[in-house]
Amino acid sequence: MGQAVGIDLGTTTSCVAAVLDGEPRLLPNEKGNLVHASVVSFLENGNVVVGNAAKARLVTHPAETVKSAKRLMGRFYFAEEVKRAKEVSAYTIEEGLDQSVFIRVGDKRYSVPEISALVLREMKRIAELTIKAPVEDAVITVPAYFNDKQRQATRDAGQIAGLNVLRIINEPTAAALAYGFGKGLNQRVAVYDLGGGTFDVSILEIGKDVFEVLGTAGDTFLGGDDFDNRIVEVFVEQFKAQHQLDPREHLRAFATLRALAEWTKVQLSQKSSVEINLPSVLQVEGGKVLGFRSSFTEAEFQKLTLDLLQRTFVVCDEAVRSAAIAASALDGVILVGGPSRLPLIQRAVSQYFGKPPFAKLNPEHVVAMGAALQAHALSNPGVETMLLDVTPLTLKIEIAAGLTAPIIDKNTPVPIERTRVFTTTQDFQEKVKIRVLQGEERMAADCTLLGEFEFSGFKKARRGDVSIEVTFEIDANGIVNVSARDPATGKTATQVIHLSGGLTDAQLAESRSRSDTTQISPFE
Ligand code: ADP
Ligand code: MG
Repeated sequence: MGQAVGIDLGTTTSCVAAVLDGEPRLLPNEKGNLVHASVVSFLENGNVVVGNAAKARLVTHPAETVKSAKRLMGRFYFAEEVKRAKEVSAYTIEEGLDQSVFIRVGDKRYSVPEISALVLREMKRIAELTIKAPVEDAVITVPAYFNDKQRQATRDAGQIAGLNVLRIINEPTAAALAYGFGKGLNQRVAVYDLGGGTFDVSILEIGKDVFEVLGTAGDTFLGGDDFDNRIVEVFVEQFKAQHQLDPREHLRAFATLRALAEWTKVQLSQKSSVEINLPSVLQVEGGKVLGFRSSFTEAEFQKLTLDLLQRTFVVCDEAVRSAAIAASALDGVILVGGPSRLPLIQRAVSQYFGKPPFAKLNPEHVVAMGAALQAHALSNPGVETMLLDVTPLTLKIEIAAGLTAPIIDKNTPVPIERTRVFTTTQDFQEKVKIRVLQGEERMAADCTLLGEFEFSGFKKARRGDVSIEVTFEIDANGIVNVSARDPATGKTATQVIHLSGGLTDAQLAESRSRSDTTQISPFE
């Protein structure tokens, strides 16, 4: 087996890491960057740009540049999340087959896994720069709350990118692995993950090799971008005062101020005040060039963003409640995500949980590092820490009156196979529809529908006299196969359920060949 890598496929940024000389290491691109924007931009000549160069094109080519595709991963078109994404995206989001989501760029349509595959392909390319050999085996991370459709879509993206996906693991689990958890005692930790546009908290119970998700909570529209926006608002007012001109009416000038705001925020993770002096922001009629001067202190920034920080703790309250544990009873808190590098966030987290968080490792890198460790363990049989993951949500089927019956409870270690026997609800019924759901609510309507299929050919008899065995099988990647069987007739539902978010083999092959021929231009 070649060198296996770990990939943190983030909403805003992605990283790739590998265990080299026994240590997990982030792998740089040719510019030395370790963190790459999860942005894909389509050029007129049919080529694509991925990463930080693509991020720059968000301003100049908004309709051809796709960011935050992960928000759409494995979602139905009618999902609330997709509606919100449509409102904030400059690119076109369309409905595809089976209520799936497609992204339109010019006259071409892309499935969401195809877009993510371009980011993964870039991670593969970057890894090969250091490893100097073809890289295929990879562990990819997903948020703990991702359901099976979303995990399957991520796996499809890996396959389209030409990767052999060894395992899909949870981001908080990866972060905990990077800190060496899972080797000894039983411990409970919180993972506070503030990203670019999303916030998640997970409470993990870690035994030897087993990572259980006791509770998760999140806000899918809260992250570093919101912190930038607060600074931008101040800059806009200052610019107006300096030049009697509204920079929001000038696309590029506004984009420059926005980039400056993000830069200012990042500076505040290293020092308590920043001086800003940009000689050229906007050229006005007559050729005059307008610059911008300002300064920012950590104290000002803290005051401006206090409510955002407080919102993260409302979510923490919820996670702690859902895990039925007191915040003070946790053994540790792990920081993940770029904004978690800000001292003001570290202080607030420390105060909330009553202990200093783990922040020794760079919160932007920990997820990829943990994924690399897992990839290394999976591809080197001698290596210890074989991580067992658990199903994040209960898997069930719909029964009479819109109710549900669980087949596999949440937090069951995978792989696993479970069978339950059901019967018909009507006399001499000829077929049943098996609706596969995921979630903790009792009513089917409140759970996520993963897929459905029809089963017929079982014994025809009075209701209650028919037995239908329903078997759920979850593999080590958290992907489910469902089958139905009548022990009396021996008839088995020939169709093993294909999760509706997943692509068919034919679609995968087509996407793969499309992706193989797409030229990625690392630089413009
Ligand atoms: P993802 O949502 O993909 O998990 P990240 O965890 O990489 O994203 O977070 C991206 C965010 O982190 C961006 O808003 C970026 O500005 C911010 N960020 C990166 N580095 C720093 C830093 N040193 N200090 C503060 N924020 C940072
Ligand atoms: Mg992340």
